[in-house]
This record gives sequence, structure tokens and C-alpha cells, in this order.
Amino acid sequence: MVFKIQEQVDLSPYNSFGVSQKAAYLADIQDAADLREAREFAGSKRLPILILGQGSNTLFIKDFPGLILHMNTRGREILPGAGMLRAAAGENWHELVKFCLQNSLYGIENLALIPGTVGAAPIQNIGAYGVELEQFFVELEAFELKTGELRHMSKADCEFAYRDSIFKQDPGQKLVVLSVTLQLCAEPTPQLGYAGLQEALQGEEATPQRVFDAVCAIRKSKLPDPELIGNAGSFFKNPVVSRTKLLKLRESYPDLPAWDTDDPDLVKLPAAWLLDKKGWKGKTRGGAAVHEDHALVLVNTAGATGEDILLLAQDMSSSILQSFGIALQTEVRIA
Ligand SMILES: Cc1cc2nc3c(=O)[nH]c(=O)nc-3n(C[C@H](O)[C@H](O)[C@H](O)COP(=O)(O)OP(=O)(O)OC[C@H]3O[C@@H](n4cnc5c(N)ncnc54)[C@H](O)[C@@H]3O)c2cc1C
Repeated sequence: MVFKIQEQVDLSPYNSFGVSQKAAYLADIQDAADLREAREFAGSKRLPILILGQGSNTLFIKDFPGLILHMNTRGREILPGAGMLRAAAGENWHELVKFCLQNSLYGIENLALIPGTVGAAPIQNIGAYGVELEQFFVELEAFELKTGELRHMSKADCEFAYRDSIFKQDPGQKLVVLSVTLQLCAEPTPQLGYAGLQEALQGEEATPQRVFDAVCAIRKSKLPDPELIGNAGSFFKNPVVSRTKLLKLRESYPDLPAWDTDDPDLVKLPAAWLLDKKGWKGKTRGGAAVHEDHALVLVNTAGATGEDILLLAQDMSSSILQSFGIALQTEVRIA
């Protein structure tokens, strides 16, 4: 295919909130050669660059004056060596999970139905139902926008953390993921730590297919489908606070839930619980709303602008700061 750059592109089909902003330029990236051309183009016009997968974790609040690299590289390959698999960045994540099941490669069933691309998965170390990408991550290949060189990055290089990695900070933001290599399990290894998952299995044997089906069913019952109503899943991360802070908060909120973290001094609190306590479910601002059933999910009900959604999110985080002394961090990338 001939490499083509489109101009003045409406971004509504390129983000799961469905907000309508424009990009000055957008390039559909099929391979590393396209990236080289795109880099030269942006360099010659001194354009800022933004990397985009399926836009399911991105909120556009204004027009983008530069070049968007829309990642559309394809390919999935089972590698020699038990359970090793490489997938191109533009592949759909959920389709990869299905492909793994079909090929008796196990472990990522709990991450079924997470929207978006394979290339975006390491950016926030996607996670759900007790599993995170980093558990299966081996390495990735990235294109350095600064130098135009290809680079292999190990798990340690990526500095994974809870919904975080080196790619969320400079200079990591200048790296375009081209492919991701995972080490999966040849034997089923069901991970049933998440209580709702045990219940959904209703005492049946936890085969990988059943775990996959249960995760899909829970997600469909809980989260709005972005095809039907624009959203980006959880808008905020769950805050991590000290145990001392937890004890203090529990003097006023004895039923405040908390989860242990790897650090014995720190606990993670459910942002949805905090927001729900402050009555945010169903609140609206312009065409933006907090989902009726899920206080962590902001939705585009009727032609919301990115700014409507952002202002609503800011009001929500201010109320949490005021009431609990906790500064929420966004999980969604604001562009
Ligand atoms: C309904 C719903 C439910 C969700 N549930 C979950 C969940 O359970 N767990 C979870 O972790 N997330 C969840 N998300 C968030 C989202 O699905 C993930 O963050 C996903 O990985 C985003 O993929 P994307 O291709 O759409 O990324 P985009 O929104 O296109 O990009 C996200 C970030 O990744 C960067 N990026 C994308 N591709 C590349 C690349 N090839 N190289 C370098 N950088 C790149 C972008 O620059 C941006 O910073 C949910 C979203 C929705 C809409």
C-alpha cells in the first residue's frame, strides 16, 4: 500500500468517547517504513507527533496541530519456545486474547474484552480481574522518533507499574511500539483472585475458556459498550495511600474498602467507591455524564465536547480532594 497522509481529519471515529476534534495531519502506519516517512514529514514541517491506537484511552480536548500516527501494523506469530508469541502493535487486543485461547496459550483470559490495540497495552500496563500485562511481557520492539532507530526493550526497561510505564513520561513518549512479545503458559493457570470471577463460575471447573467467558460476561454487565455510548472505561486510577491515611479515613468512613499492594505501608483505594460516596453517579455537564451505574466511567451522552468531559472530571477530582484529601490521577490520556 502507498503511504498516505490525510489532512484536516475529524477525530470522532478515532476515539472511543466519540468527541469531534480535528488533526492537522493523520498517517495510517502499516510498518516501520511508514514510520520513517512520517517522521521525515513531521520533521520537515516541524510538527508535533501524537501516537494513537484505537483511541480507547484518549480524550481529545482540542484540535491537534501536528501529525497523528495511527498504528495499524498487523501480524501475530507463535514463536519457537513454549508459549512465546509476538504480535504487531496495530492488532486488536481482544482478538489476540481469543487467538491465544484458540492456540492453547493461556494466562491473559482475565484481560479479555479490554478495548484497544496490542501496542497500547504496555503503555499503561493494562490490567483487569487480578492480572496485569507485565506478568506475561517479555520484550517489545520500538521505533525511536528522535533518532529513527529501532530498539528492543526488556521488561525492566519498560518500568511497569500500576497503570503506568516509562512510555507515559518523557522521553518514553517518543517511542512508538511496533510489536510486543509475550510468554504465555502451555498449561491452564486460572487466576481467580477477583471475587466476582469465582462467583461467575458458579462452582464450575475454571477452564481458560470459562474464565474468558466469565470475564466477558462481567464486563458486558458492568461497563457501557463504547460502540453504543462513548466512554474510555475508568477515567481515574485507584489512588494509593499510606496505611496511616487509611486508618484516619476509616474514622469517618468505617466501611471504606482497601486492597493491599506490594508495599506493606501502602494500600489501594477504589476510586469508584470514593466518587460514589460523593454522589457522582448520573451527574452531568453539557453532553458529558457520569455513568448511572459506575461512578468511575464518564460518558458522552449527547454531543459532548472533550472540554465538557474534562471539566466534569475536574469537578469530580476536586470534590474527592476536598472530602478525602486524595488527589485522583487520570488514567485516560488528555490530548
Ligand atoms: C469500555 C472500556 C473498558 C476499559 N477497560 C480497561 C481495563 O479493564 N483495563 C485497562 O487497563 N484499560 C481499560 N480500558 C482502557 C483502554 O482499553 C486501554 O488503555 C487500551 O490499552 C488502550 O488502547 P488504544 O489502542 O485504544 O490506546 P489509545 O487510546 O489509542 O492510546 C493510549 C496511549 O497509548 C499510546 N499508544 C498507543 N499505541 C501506541 C504505540 N504503538 N506505541 C506507543 N504508544 C502508543 C498513546 O500515545 C496513548 O498515550 C478500557 C477502555 C474502555 C473504553
